[in-house]
Amino acid sequence: MSVRIGVLNVQGAVSEHVEHVRLAGAEPVLVKHPDDLQGLSGMVLPGGESTTIGKLMRKYGLLDPVRELAQKGLPVFGTCAGMILLASRIEGHDEPHLGVMDVTVNRNSFGRQRDSFEADVAVSGLSDDQPFPSVFIRAPHIVEAGPDVEVLATYDGKIVAARQGGLLATAFHPELTPDTRLHRKFVELAEAYQMATARH
Ligand code: GLN
Repeated sequence: MSVRIGVLNVQGAVSEHVEHVRLAGAEPVLVKHPDDLQGLSGMVLPGGESTTIGKLMRKYGLLDPVRELAQKGLPVFGTCAGMILLASRIEGHDEPHLGVMDVTVNRNSFGRQRDSFEADVAVSGLSDDQPFPSVFIRAPHIVEAGPDVEVLATYDGKIVAARQGGLLATAFHPELTPDTRLHRKFVELAEAYQMATARH
């Protein structure tokens, strides 16, 4: 049986993630209300606008339950704004959103002229060594990462992909390219979580 992966469905690039989750061999579940979180083995937080997504998560009563699940080990994959939602510290902001990943993020890191661009980025831990075609849209980056955070990729000297246990974060949008290797890697984390929790 394939694992069920929630895709936060409040704003942003939702349908592309749904498709990539399916292509990576898992069952996507749209998440808008706390009830939708039942039986998930992983959760994707899409890109968009982090302040808006954070507000909507609070409004729909999702912020606290998703934080609790992440703290208990539920794998969460945050892309772009999703990475900002995961971060424990956001430069220039007093409060984080979920605040579960030991990183400090800068929200807009690649300058005005380069609002959006594509680059081939070497990402470690994928199924092969081919660079990942990475789409950056007003992308954030990780300014500082704690000791438990594994840096998976840098671009222009900036950290743009990282993992901390089941938490996976990319500054770019892997759902906007045909490459499904990062989603496949995330589905593996979700499968491991499902196996570990099924034993109890
Ligand atoms: N920089 C945006 C923010 O702060 C994120 C952009 C994106 O997700 N494409 O929310």
